[in-house]
Amino acid sequence: MQLIDTHCHLNDRDAFPIVGMAVNEAMAAGVARMIVVGVDTASSERAVSLAEEFTELYAAVGWHPNHASDYRAGELPTIRTLLAHPKVVALGEIGLDFYRDHASRADQFECLSGQLDLAVETGKPVVFHCRDAYDELLTVLESRPAHKYLFHCFAGSVDAARRGIALGGWFGVDGPVTYKSSGPLRDVLATLPRDRIVIETDSPWMAPIPYRGQRNKPAWVTEVNKGLAEALGLSDEDCAQLTTSNALAFFGDMGVV
Ligand SMILES: [Zn+2]
Repeated sequence: MQLIDTHCHLNDRDAFPIVGMAVNEAMAAGVARMIVVGVDTASSERAVSLAEEFTELYAAVGWHPNHASDYRAGELPTIRTLLAHPKVVALGEIGLDFYRDHASRADQFECLSGQLDLAVETGKPVVFHCRDAYDELLTVLESRPAHKYLFHCFAGSVDAARRGIALGGWFGVDGPVTYKSSGPLRDVLATLPRDRIVIETDSPWMAPIPYRGQRNKPAWVTEVNKGLAEALGLSDEDCAQLTTSNALAFFGDMGVV
C-alpha cells in the first residue's frame, strides 16, 4: 500500500524540529510522498529547502489568508521564483478564512487575487484553504478562467461541493473523516466524483482517531485513508490506490513509480 500525504506542515520548526524522523516514520507506514505547504514567504522557502533535502518531500508555496495582513504585492516575484523550482508542485495554500480574523477581508481578497493571477501565469495548480467562506471563494473562482483547483480539508456543504465539482475541483480529506460526529461530512464526501478525492494530514493539526488531540504527523495519513475507505465503502487497499493515483493526477508524478 502506497499513500501520499498531500498536505502537511513539516516546515513548522516547533512541531517538527527533526524532520527526518517524521519522514522516516511516514515512509515506514507506507507514505511514499509528502507535500509540504507554505503559508508565507519564509515557510514557503523552508518547504522548498526541505524538498531539496528529502527525496520523499515536495512543496507548495504561497500566502495563507491568515497571513494576508503581512502580504504585499512585492512578495509575488519571490513566490514566482519558488514556483519555478522542479519540486514545487502547486501554489498554496491560499484562499479565504472568515472563521478567524487574523487579516481583514479586504486584505484576504487582495492576497488571493494577486496569487490567482500568478497561478494562471505559471500554470501551477492551486491548493485552497477555505473556512466559513465557500460562497465568497467559489464566487471569485466562478468569475475567472478555468484552472486546476484543490479544496484542501474540504468542509463545505453539498451545494459548495456541487459548485466546486462544476469548476472541475479536487477535494482534500483529513482527520475529521474519522470523527464520530462527522456524519454530515461523510455524506458530502459520498457525493464527490471518486477521481477527485485526495488524502492529507494537515499535520501538525487535525489528528485522526485514535490520535485525536495529539500533534499530528504524516505517518497518520494511514488513519485518514481508513476513515475515507469506510465512508466510501472501499477496502483500505483500494482507497489507497484511488487516492494515490488521484494525487499524482493533480500534482504530477513526483517520481512515484
Ligand atoms: Zn495547511
